[in-house]
Amino acid sequence: MIHLSPPDVGEAERAALLAAFDGGWIAPVGPELAAFERQVTERTGWTTVALSSGTAALHLALLAVGVQPGDTVFVSSFTFVATANAVTYCGAEPVFVDSDRSSWNMSPALLHRALQDADARGKLPTAVVVVDLYGQCADYDALRPLCERYGVPIVEDSAEALGAAYRGRPAGTLGDVGVFSFNGNKIITTSSGGLLLTPDEATSDRVRSLSTQARRPVVHYEHEETGFNYRMSNLLAGLGSAQLQRLDAIIERKLAINAAYRWAFADSDLEFMPAPDWSAWNGWLTCVLFPDRESRDRAMSTLTANEIESRPLWKPMHRQPLFAGRDAYVDGTSDDLFDRGLCLPSGAGLNDGDVHRISQLVSISRTARTGASLQHAVDR
Ligand SMILES: *Cc1c(COP(=O)(O)O)cnc(C)c1O
Repeated sequence: MIHLSPPDVGEAERAALLAAFDGGWIAPVGPELAAFERQVTERTGWTTVALSSGTAALHLALLAVGVQPGDTVFVSSFTFVATANAVTYCGAEPVFVDSDRSSWNMSPALLHRALQDADARGKLPTAVVVVDLYGQCADYDALRPLCERYGVPIVEDSAEALGAAYRGRPAGTLGDVGVFSFNGNKIITTSSGGLLLTPDEATSDRVRSLSTQARRPVVHYEHEETGFNYRMSNLLAGLGSAQLQRLDAIIERKLAINAAYRWAFADSDLEFMPAPDWSAWNGWLTCVLFPDRESRDRAMSTLTANEIESRPLWKPMHRQPLFAGRDAYVDGTSDDLFDRGLCLPSGAGLNDGDVHRISQLVSISRTARTGASLQHAVDR
């Protein structure tokens, strides 16, 4: 079975995990955790707090910028549900903003309209959560000035975009607070985990405290506010450091896989996710658009029949039953991406032969009509 984006781990990761174990720091915090945070800081320039998941990091990021019950928060509609769930955890209401064709990320034009309307109603959002989808940054030079004009902070959901950059600036540092995920399917993994980034030590201190039950620094356990149990385990941080050392190699391999797909589909009518000139993409998942939903579905079933995992693009939040009736600024862009889009296997462990076979199967699905003729074509 070929999976979409399996973890790429080996001897180095195994050794790092065991070294953390043998060092005796099994308890929640320890030297591996501090080292992992320092290494992400070296890469990004911002202070970091390693947490138990990207979702936990989003939750604390929203609290850190002051989101409270009854507030509204603008959120990219084209995303994974965790982005919007974090808003709900705060007792706030998400308002969804659709994507732009040029990057598949939040549309500056629609964000502008949403902010103007909110301002006219006298209820601005407390934050805007901008997602860097599939490892590509949103257009921050367009989004930031809008948020600044209305004094609304940006939480950057960079869960999928570690290692990417916007005009040379690292993903995760493009808003006011940033978030990474190290879940098993992300570009690097700690099995499960996340991390919050901030330029400001006071914020990271507060987030670190909130992530450990907001315990006051006294010997008896004293608490003034509700905290969470969101800290990353020291063992997993050891794994994270080993993965981080290989991040650039993984990105390089993922970009090569994308180039191989582009080469294989050069003469077809498939469209790839756009790569604007300001984007240094991390290659996390190669995503393509078919001319219509039927041909996308045919390609997906052909791949499934050959034990190859593929998946439609994210179903937009404004289409989710969970968020029925919520306000949304949409223009059909993410609806269309969801209808026609497919994520292709993109694991760094794929070899060129795998990519070739996957591309062939997709091409065959474009011409063949029945499962029988498909199988025949593959066998030949
Ligand atoms: C994976 C992901 C998250 C959540 O991260 P977890 O570590 O799985 O909690 C949030 N937002 C986006 C866009 C993601 O892809």
